[in-house]
Amino acid sequence: MQHRYEIVDRLEQTQKIDKESLAELLTTEDQELKEYLSKRARETAQRIYGNQVYIRGLIEFTNYCKNDCLYCGIRRSNSHADRYRLSREDIFQCCKEGYGLGFRTFVLQGGEDPYFTDERICEIVSGIKERYPDCAVTLSIGEKEKESYQAYFRAGADRYLLRHETANEEHYQKLHPKEMSLKRRKQCLMDLKEIGFQTGCGFMVGSPYQTIDTLYEDLQFILELQPQMVGIGPFIPQKDTPLKEMQAGTLDQTLRLLSIIRLLHPTALLPSTTALGTIHPRGRELGILAGANVVMPNLSPVAVREKYKLYDNKICTGDEAAECRFCMQRRMEGIGYQVVEARGDYKKK
Ligand code: SAH
Repeated sequence: MQHRYEIVDRLEQTQKIDKESLAELLTTEDQELKEYLSKRARETAQRIYGNQVYIRGLIEFTNYCKNDCLYCGIRRSNSHADRYRLSREDIFQCCKEGYGLGFRTFVLQGGEDPYFTDERICEIVSGIKERYPDCAVTLSIGEKEKESYQAYFRAGADRYLLRHETANEEHYQKLHPKEMSLKRRKQCLMDLKEIGFQTGCGFMVGSPYQTIDTLYEDLQFILELQPQMVGIGPFIPQKDTPLKEMQAGTLDQTLRLLSIIRLLHPTALLPSTTALGTIHPRGRELGILAGANVVMPNLSPVAVREKYKLYDNKICTGDEAAECRFCMQRRMEGIGYQVVEARGDYKKK
């Protein structure tokens, strides 16, 4: 008995993992071991964050992108993407609605859209902070110069999400066009952390060419960077991309990895993502039960939601913000958790 679970206990106690243990935890068919992993991770999250789930209002403000990531539905080469960008006023309107619904974090996510110069981003950030000084603003707008990140921080942005996508150089090259590099991505993450952002890295589970070895490198990278947030969700093929024929990541692997990351980095803010909700009707609930502690309901105007399609079959594209907010609340209550109207900052050790 004791012996079978030792692998999880060791992970929890040392907050480290070796490649053999990772392989075992990702492949074991032993249901009791899988459940034990999930339970330890869930209890770890509860010890730090209780039964509270933080909510973030996600505003997808532009789907123009100058990058050409091979997996992404809004890559520049996708001529089928129906492009849009929200105006500053549209964005403030989303925040107004979100504030009324109890959101105290707004996440501005978009493609790398040159229209949104540093000046425009700063105006939007400071405009939100002026109107809602009790709210956190998270940016997720890709790779920028350090000076740009500094400007956003000075304008009042609190957090920045930039998934590293994979910590293995060759794997990175297979998912991205040649003008992009892992080295630069990692540099951006270090800059963000140094500037003082609560910083998030992360990756897609089951991305094409991912292996246990590359996942091992992802976990080592997380341990090295010590980000405040880690965003992971299943890869889901998008029909207009070069990777359209590839297999999607699975619920099972995503849940196992959420649990492993919770145990490796107990205090991390760990979202149960929309992509997880897309591959399984109860994916987001199961993500929380596997150790996640954040959900990100969509606040984007319904008129544009259908257009922000990073992957196929994305859920909730027809729902109003209020519906998403209350649907999420019901879902969380259904598993014994509470969504809270708080900024939901990182809790230091
Ligand atoms: N331009 C920003 C935001 C990217 S979209 C940036 O570069 O950070 C946010 C995340 O969606 C990406 O980091 C990627 O991991 C994920 N994503 C993109 N395409 C996807 C797909 N086909 N399936 C699942 N997740 C995807």
